[in-house]
Amino acid sequence: MLNIGCHLSNSKGYMNMCNEAASIGANTFQFFTRNPRGGAAKEIDPADAEKAIAFMRENNFVKILAHAPYTLNPCAERPEVREFTLNTMRDDLKRMEYTPGNMYNFHPGSHVGQGIGKGIELITEMLNAILEPEQSTTVLLETMSGKGSEVGSRFEELRRIIDGTELNEKLGVCLDTCHVFDGGYDIVNDLEGVLDEFDRVIGIGRLKAIHINDTKNPFSSHKDRHEKIGEGSIGIEAFGRIVNHPALRDLPFYLETPNELDGYGREIALLRGLVREE
Ligand code: FE
Ligand code: FE
Ligand code: ZN
Repeated sequence: MLNIGCHLSNSKGYMNMCNEAASIGANTFQFFTRNPRGGAAKEIDPADAEKAIAFMRENNFVKILAHAPYTLNPCAERPEVREFTLNTMRDDLKRMEYTPGNMYNFHPGSHVGQGIGKGIELITEMLNAILEPEQSTTVLLETMSGKGSEVGSRFEELRRIIDGTELNEKLGVCLDTCHVFDGGYDIVNDLEGVLDEFDRVIGIGRLKAIHINDTKNPFSSHKDRHEKIGEGSIGIEAFGRIVNHPALRDLPFYLETPNELDGYGREIALLRGLVREE
């Protein structure tokens, strides 16, 4: 069975997200750790977290994925932005321990003209400061589209971040289908070639999650605008190959398409319908 969920609002806590996920046939979900624009996080209610853990165990949920706020930039030029990013991510990782053993995804950041090399250096510096040997959370670098000065649109860049991080057994990669296609990896016509390249450059074992999104833009546009599944340039046939690929089909999939809850439910059913059972 395809393990799939969608992005949900965490404004009402973990149990609320569990119930919403279950109501649309999902068995996982993604959420922002706090307001996507950053700022203070709501207190976590330990009883709510405990209830959610039990619910997820009983309902065969797989790992849930927390997403860092968009406003963070680990490789910003201004030191106060980097400090804010570091403090926010460190606090997020502490909060993740209320629901141990899950995953935390972040955008490597934008080097804002400092250059890719400097960007990678600042990102690894931050990871080396916040990762702890005791943490149970796997931190995921998201593949980016290469919009503006984004770091992480080439697999080589993600590899260099991983190589520069001491506790890199805590690191994995989240592949966003919209971002890699916009970024110039042709998962429509050459999925096999792209996954071979991922394996050669990063190692397929690092791939821990898929953001499954169609894109409003043509191939290699470096734009990053998500579209509903089957309504964009990636198209339904390519998604059929993605959810059935032996290297991908057992990973958790998270939808970030422009949808309300009922639309997400329809996309989950659509994608599950594409799966060929062995
Ligand atoms: Fe993201
Ligand atoms: Fe994404
Ligand atoms: Zn995106």
